[in-house]
Amino acid sequence: MTQQPTASHFINGAYVEDTSGAPIEVIYPATGEVIATVHAATPAIIEQALASAHAAQKAWGQMSGTERGRILRRAADIMRERNHDLSVLETYDTGKPYSETSVADATSGADALEYFGGLAASLTGEHIDLGGDFVYTRREPLGLCAGIGAWNYPTQIACWKGAPALACGNALVFKPSETTPLSALKVAEILHEAGLPAGLYNVIQGMGEVGHSLITDDRVAKVSLTGSVPTGRKVYAAAAEGIRAVTMELGGKSPMVIFDDADVENAVSGIILGNFYSSGQVCSNGTRVFVQEGIKDAIITRLAERLENAKLGDPLDPETTFGPMVSARQREIVEGYITKGQEEGATLVAGGTRPDKPGFWLTPAIFSDVTDDMTIAREEIFGPVVSILSFKTEEEALARANATEFGLAAGVFTADITRAHRMCAGFEAGTTYINTYNLAPVEAPFGGMKLSGVGRENSKAAIEHYSQIKSVYVGMGDVEAPF
Ligand code: NAD
Repeated sequence: MTQQPTASHFINGAYVEDTSGAPIEVIYPATGEVIATVHAATPAIIEQALASAHAAQKAWGQMSGTERGRILRRAADIMRERNHDLSVLETYDTGKPYSETSVADATSGADALEYFGGLAASLTGEHIDLGGDFVYTRREPLGLCAGIGAWNYPTQIACWKGAPALACGNALVFKPSETTPLSALKVAEILHEAGLPAGLYNVIQGMGEVGHSLITDDRVAKVSLTGSVPTGRKVYAAAAEGIRAVTMELGGKSPMVIFDDADVENAVSGIILGNFYSSGQVCSNGTRVFVQEGIKDAIITRLAERLENAKLGDPLDPETTFGPMVSARQREIVEGYITKGQEEGATLVAGGTRPDKPGFWLTPAIFSDVTDDMTIAREEIFGPVVSILSFKTEEEALARANATEFGLAAGVFTADITRAHRMCAGFEAGTTYINTYNLAPVEAPFGGMKLSGVGRENSKAAIEHYSQIKSVYVGMGDVEAPF
């Protein structure tokens, strides 16, 4: 295996171990083998991380944006140079095939470091003329931020939170998911190699309780979570106690609407990208695929044909295009939904079976004849399961697409350009797509409406969520007082 992190935590610029913390086994999902053990942060480790971040933040916040940005851009270069090793580690951590991790994980993390590194020098306030007196605003860091990650994109999440936080002059204590604890440590290592002063980016391990201790600490000004809606509710409520700022990147049950005039090959490619990439473990997946009646059979037939080309195999083989689920538990959850789909009357057209291999494999599944009330059409499955529903009119498709408590993403495939824009204007979702699906470039805001979240990651919009504005009123004349 590629170079592993050398200890469980990264605090104040160095690896730190405390074996008295509960052991957490890291399992390679492709084989079920234990490849590493880390230890959950003890109260002493949590305190060390928070104290070092708190102490380091002020001087970092007072540095110029140009200096901060230079360090982030250097880190981006190191990440790109090490992309191969980082991708192999990510594959061990998550089970995702190297064909994905080598183009979508460390590379996307590097994009975030480069983008926010480039933006850091241009963060400014404004001048407001009052005809004599004037006000200027200062864009200031929030202070100490806590980040909590999900297991599907460990490197990306560590960078999507770290890069804007650091660019704005904050310090971060990041807790990765207990299922995939390794990659964030490498991000910390690289940032410090690039010149980040000690204490500004700390990684500590643990389950939900460790996350809870971070978000309830008085020194923490902001919490950014990537996770499920139930966890989001708890984290948001705990953060509210201290009136802390939050970013919530939560789950979804996103719709994809395919009209009769759509290009079948492109629409099927969209369904594949939006349901089977990362074995379906992507928050923005378009898992409710509404297909207009005239094109439905063609879409299902072509999708089933193309799924036969999915190559399940050694995730480290660059030819492999479909990996295992992240854990035994996640596979059981997904299998439960597949059973439920059949019980409630949907037709399992393909997949949903366990191949005869060790590890947590599950073949990509297609359900047709799905109706809006079925459990598989309402709840987030977070696995390789697509539901095909049919519709007649545009109005009907939009109303049904929006009839969900979630609002993360939505997509439309059509040759009619005005209809495409009408649909996107009507979608109740934070990230929408026309004739493509599931791309998340760092330049574009990403995040959810409704239960899918609060705030946005990426783009200039993220700056608003990692900084605050201070007004400075400047009196230019005598002070008038009533007595
Ligand atoms: P999860 O909610 O189980 O856990 C997320 C993180 O929260 C983990 O690090 C966990 O340890 C921590 N946590 C759990 N309880 C906590 C508590 N009470 N206080 C503080 N921290 C706590 O999610 P998961 O299973 O790791 O990830 C899958 C979910 O994440 C899916 O719902 C998916 O849609 C969502 N997700 C969203 C995005 C997005 O950008 N919107 C991206 C990836 C994943």
